[in-house]
Formats: sequence, structure tokens, C-alpha cells
Amino acid sequence: MNCFEQMLEMGHEQVALCSDRASGLRAIIAIHDTTLGPSLGGCRLMDYPSEEEALLDVLRLSRGMTYKAAVAGLDLGGGKAVIIGDPERKTEEVFRAFGRFVDSLGGRYLTAEDMNTSEREMAIIRQETRHVTGLSKKLGGSGDPGPVTAWGTYHGIRAALERVYGSPDPRGRTVAIQGVGSVGSRLAHHLHEAGAKLIYNDIKPANIARTLEDCGQGTIVDDKGLFAADCDVLAPCAVGAVINPRTLDRIRAPIIAGAANNQLEDDVRDAEALKARGILYVPDYVVNAGGLINVYGEIHGWPPGKSMDRAAGIFDTVKHILAVADEQGITTVAASNHIAEERIAAAARH
Ligand code: NAD
Repeated sequence: MNCFEQMLEMGHEQVALCSDRASGLRAIIAIHDTTLGPSLGGCRLMDYPSEEEALLDVLRLSRGMTYKAAVAGLDLGGGKAVIIGDPERKTEEVFRAFGRFVDSLGGRYLTAEDMNTSEREMAIIRQETRHVTGLSKKLGGSGDPGPVTAWGTYHGIRAALERVYGSPDPRGRTVAIQGVGSVGSRLAHHLHEAGAKLIYNDIKPANIARTLEDCGQGTIVDDKGLFAADCDVLAPCAVGAVINPRTLDRIRAPIIAGAANNQLEDDVRDAEALKARGILYVPDYVVNAGGLINVYGEIHGWPPGKSMDRAAGIFDTVKHILAVADEQGITTVAASNHIAEERIAAAARH
């Protein structure tokens, strides 16, 4: 399928191929939909094996951002950028050239950090354009999105608990967290404070040790033990594609709700399989919208605390999605996609 056919099929407005001979930059910026506002999405740096894979990645990721912003109730569209290159060899020239391309789009695309890019690269891009978010607090930005994402995830879990057990209170519930990094460790903290019991799985023993020290409790399991854990909530907060036909049959938790991106290996197949098994899956892009809320607050100059309050609103968003899924007899993924599409269609009508 050629690029235009892919854009048509997935609903993209614009795809910009960016090449700068002097710095060696090769990047693709994809703008999926700007009905609700300017497109926003991170800039990912990866050594893609082929241009086709880079294109497919940026098309999929930018479309995902449209849905994430729409469900979170933000006036933003979906965009994303990929820089094709070696993450071990980042240069200032590459990010400055990228910044100039972002600037040339006149605000239709706002960039942010993503895989292999950080506040440091955003500061370089800022020298060329104001259409960049995710800056450090020192530069007037919103800083680390981890706290807001963890807070939103915590409230998404509460909504799922209410649905399954009749009360959102985590007290006495057991939550198994995969990945106690920036988001997972803070999630563990909130759950611990609320009286939940914790189970941890992480490939970095130091991160588990730090979380154990903070919470003073928790059981450590390997990844086999994680999926089979006797718990109320499985919270993937590490890597994607962890819910798949190989893990599905082992999962005993009645709820899956975590911050990791792209938890389902296949959105349709795995969401259907979870529904058939009576496992309540809270779509990842709904639960982890705190990161996007954080940069939205940065753009709009929100006072401290407002992003946290908005992230707590993920509780109501999840409740609404679960109600729609029930009413229509569809998966929670289909329900949240449907809600996003309806919001965009209504905005387009006006
Ligand atoms: P992080 O790198 O700080 O933490 C990830 C943790 O997962 C680390 O402790 C790491 O050791 C562990 N890990 C990695 N691979 C693992 C594996 N195979 N098994 C078990 N543990 C593993 O990342 P983060 O910022 O906490 O983000 C976690 C997830 O949430 C990612 O999928 C990220 O894309 C997503 N997310 C994060 C944010 C945010 O604000 N940081 C926002 C939205 C989504």
C-alpha cells in the first residue's frame, strides 16, 4: 500500500518527510486529525530497519494520539514524529533541524518527548520553535509527566474496582504492578497509601528495592508469577504487547488497568478474548492520559495542581466507557474508540 492509500485508510491529514543534508536528519511528521485542536504527540528517535516501518509506526502512533486526546476531553488533535537514527548518536544539529521543520508547520503539530528523546532534546528544539512541550520546569515547562500519569492511572484503577466490587476503595485489594519505574513506583505509592497490598515485577532489582523501601511492603514475582498472580488488578506499567494469547489464559486478575502503552498485542483480538473471559480491561490510552494532560497544562499555563485534578477525572472517564461498553455489548476498547469518534464528529459538525 502506498503512503496516500495508508493516509486515506487511517484518516491522516498530512505527512511531512523531513530531510536535512547538513545534519543528516531524516524524520517523518504525521498529523492525523486537527478537528479538536493542533496535533500533539512525542518525537520518537529509533533506528528503524526500514522507511516503511518508520512510516507505519508514525501513522499508527499519531492516530492513537487523536483518540487519546479526544477521550481525555482535551482540545488537541493527534500527531507524532519519528526521527530515523541511532539513539546512541544524538546530535544538537539533528534536533535543531527537526525544530525548524516543526516550526515550518506553523503550530499544526506540537512536539514533545517520547522514546529516546527527553527534556534535553526538547530544550534544543525550543531554540528553533515555540511549538514544543515537555520542557523542564527550569525552562518554564511542566517537567516529568510521571506523577500526573501515575495519579490518573490510580483513579482509572479505582473506577474499575468500583465496577467490579461495588466500591472504588483500594483498601484490602491486591494490585500486581509490572514495572516500577517513573509511573509504576508512584502508582505503588498511591495504592499503598490507600491500603492496597502490592505485588511487583521488574527487570531492574534496584527499582524494586526503591519501591519496597518507599512502601515498606510487597511481594516480588517473576513475569510468570505476575500473570498468574492471585490479585484483584493487574497493572502493566512497563512494556507493550504483554496481553496476548500466550499470557491471556494465565491471567487470574478480574481487572487489567495500567499505564503501559499498547498493552494488547492485537487491539481487536485480545480485547475480545478478555471480554469473553470476563476480565475487565481498561484501555491503556485512557488510563495513561495523565502525560498528555501534563503537557496540555504546560501549553495553557495551568497553575500547579490543575493537571493532577484533571488526571483524577480519569475516574469518571473510565466509568463512562464501561457504561457504554455494557450498554452496547462491545469491548471497552471499542467503546472508548467510539466515544472519541463521536466527540470528533460532533466538533466537525460545528
Ligand atoms: P520507566 O522507564 O521509568 O519505567 C519502566 C519500568 O519497567 C522500569 O523500572 C523497567 O526496569 C521496567 N521494565 C522494563 N521492561 C520490563 C519487563 N520486560 N518486565 C518487567 N519490567 C520491565 O517508564 P515509565 O515512564 O514509568 O513508563 C512506563 C510505561 O508507561 C511505558 O510503557 C510508557 O510508554 C507508559 N507511559 C508513561 C507515561 C509517563 O508519563 N511517563 C505516560 C504515558 C504512558
